[in-house]
Amino acid sequence: MTPHTTLTDSVVDALLVDSEPWLSCDDCFDQADTAVEGLLTGERDFEEPFRVHLRACGVCLEEALALATLIAPDFGLTEDQAQTRVTAAAAT
Ligand SMILES: [Zn+2]
Repeated sequence: MTPHTTLTDSVVDALLVDSEPWLSCDDCFDQADTAVEGLLTGERDFEEPFRVHLRACGVCLEEALALATLIAPDFGLTEDQAQTRVTAAAAT
């Protein structure tokens, strides 16, 4: 009898890449404030699941861009600069 394929680390990683970095729009929305603020302060990039969601979901990307535009002045950025950062971070 043939044993099942062993779940090596690389197999698990491949499975995770396919399905795991995934947020619902609600989850994404919950994280948007913190994520966009962190990005505009330069303290941190978007977390992988957040970034993956923004790439896949135009609605949430629009939300993130709108939020960045709104808070840009708080971080000494122009609206364009803030939007460029969000777009670049989401596309990375
Ligand atoms: Zn979404």
